[in-house]
Amino acid sequence: MLLPADDIMLLLKEDAAMKIIDAHMHYFNIEGFKTVAANAGYENTAACWQQICEENNIVFSVAMGNTEDVPSRYGGISPRLIDLNAPFDDIKYNQPDNIGYCLGVKSEQITLENAGKTALEFEYYAQKPQCVGIKIYPGYRPVYVYDKRHWPLFELARAYNLPVAVHTGDTASSDARLKYAHPLTVDEAAADFPDVKFVICHCGNPWFADATEVAAKNPNVYIDLSGLLEGIPGPDFYNKQKAYFDYLSMWLNYMGRWDKLMYGSDWPLVNITDYINILKQVVPQEHHEEFFYGNALNVYGRIKNLLHDC
Ligand SMILES: [Zn+2]
Repeated sequence: MLLPADDIMLLLKEDAAMKIIDAHMHYFNIEGFKTVAANAGYENTAACWQQICEENNIVFSVAMGNTEDVPSRYGGISPRLIDLNAPFDDIKYNQPDNIGYCLGVKSEQITLENAGKTALEFEYYAQKPQCVGIKIYPGYRPVYVYDKRHWPLFELARAYNLPVAVHTGDTASSDARLKYAHPLTVDEAAADFPDVKFVICHCGNPWFADATEVAAKNPNVYIDLSGLLEGIPGPDFYNKQKAYFDYLSMWLNYMGRWDKLMYGSDWPLVNITDYINILKQVVPQEHHEEFFYGNALNVYGRIKNLLHDC
């Protein structure tokens, strides 16, 4: 439904005081993010993120562990995010207490032989209060989510009640392999590990039908709507791309489970205020509180222990 401009203004005003949890962002300092952040109207710095949080009432964020710069064979944890001894600047030293993180996984470096040892290495970090989940990157890594080399990590996730966030859908680099990132693949892992929560990141963009069906069918599967856009979409973007958002809305309504859907930005990829306002038009207003806040508390259960203002 296309809302008249006055209704949109009213809707945005009513939500102004709403608290937000960003269930999917990136918080580390690589060269490439400078340009990406600039395209979204920002700087990729800790100070900039804190200002964005203040301006948009974002009370907590989940940083997805990135793995590119990790020297460890098993890897998976960004030293720029959590290892205070790593010699990097600015953003990593100032990890504030309003950010938790998912442990990133270098799937291609895990074999059936070292998978158990990898999980043991991850267990050290899984015990840290600010670790709220595990993130794997099918597509960027040529390994399916359900591959048995991930199973010891899923057992770790079960033991510590940590959700497993899974990259799905479109990738930022052309040397990735989309077949590994198809959201239908999450069904296999979810069925094998029914007592582990899985998050289909990016709603499998653009495979919304598959992503919503997997979440509708599996009680342990959730979806985040991060990373659907890049840069500064601008206030008219929703209207210009109405067919795309109608298609997304159709499948979200098909799923009919607004308790399974979380807000995430994929910062620094997108302008946060624009993105929030666009998603306010995608998700029905009566579900805004759970979409922007409550559902993340249920999925990333450790966030509750890290919030200071409630
Ligand atoms: Zn991301």
